[in-house]
Amino acid sequence: MSTYVFGHRNPDSDSIVGAISLSYLKNQLGEDCIPARQGDISAETEFILNKFGGKLPVLKTSVAGETVYIVDSTDKIHFQDDIDEATILGIFDHHKLGDLTTDTPLEAWIRPVGCSNTVIKEAYDHYGVAIPKDIAGMMMMAILSDTVIFKSPTCTKVDTKAVKELAKIAEIEDYKALGMEMFIVKSAVNGSTARELNTRDYKPFDMNGSMVGVNQLEMIDISALDDRKYEILEDMKKMKEEDGLHTMLVLLTDIMKEGSQLLCISDDESKIEAAFGKKLHNNQVWLDGVLSRKKQVIPFVQPLF
Ligand code: MG
Ligand code: MG
Ligand code: MG
Repeated sequence: MSTYVFGHRNPDSDSIVGAISLSYLKNQLGEDCIPARQGDISAETEFILNKFGGKLPVLKTSVAGETVYIVDSTDKIHFQDDIDEATILGIFDHHKLGDLTTDTPLEAWIRPVGCSNTVIKEAYDHYGVAIPKDIAGMMMMAILSDTVIFKSPTCTKVDTKAVKELAKIAEIEDYKALGMEMFIVKSAVNGSTARELNTRDYKPFDMNGSMVGVNQLEMIDISALDDRKYEILEDMKKMKEEDGLHTMLVLLTDIMKEGSQLLCISDDESKIEAAFGKKLHNNQVWLDGVLSRKKQVIPFVQPLF
């Protein structure tokens, strides 16, 4: 029986590339693994797969009775509804520890680094398995995406070293330029509806029984959305209603100005104001230096619930 390898719902590049890179490693170690995904890929991920000839992982929305490896989250809410009925053989992640539990012993590689693919790179090195050129290129791009080309506070020396080594294998000289090319693709908003924007990198979090949804748009220049704020806020209100959220947040992250415009629709705005020590004006506030949801947003919001 094959083992499925996948990342979180609403997959980002780390989740898709992690499924591919971890499957290859496990296959080299004699396990039969298949890369999988839980949903459609983003334009950014498509750019990466096209650039390096990567194959789209299979769609897997039910995993009861299967054996699985998980990458890029340990929050139950980010996985298939029947994830409890799967046997988790291992986890490769770089987030806070979530609420997934197992009935059997598992392999757990969880590190406070910038990307799951950095953790997977460490596993390749640990087992002495050579990384193929195409997979090295994709892993490098996933790390550049998750670390916002090394600008994110989540980025560590392990990540920058991994990118340099992967770039060498992939024979990419100017990896930062390629990273910028990827972020230009990621920044495109023309033709996307407010709902498409609000769900592009959306993650729900269960905060002590209250549901908090957080979406993040990482862009070269967030002023491209200046005249669409009202439309985005109106749609956030709808999403909050539909999904029964306590709070819906959208981070418009400007990777050049290195900060985020936070948009907030909440049953209790004072919680969000307390989290960041700042007042919201018209449901918005600029958070200077805030680039990372996992490190600069969730840890400040969660304790208030
Ligand atoms: Mg992710
Ligand atoms: Mg990640
Ligand atoms: Mg991200």
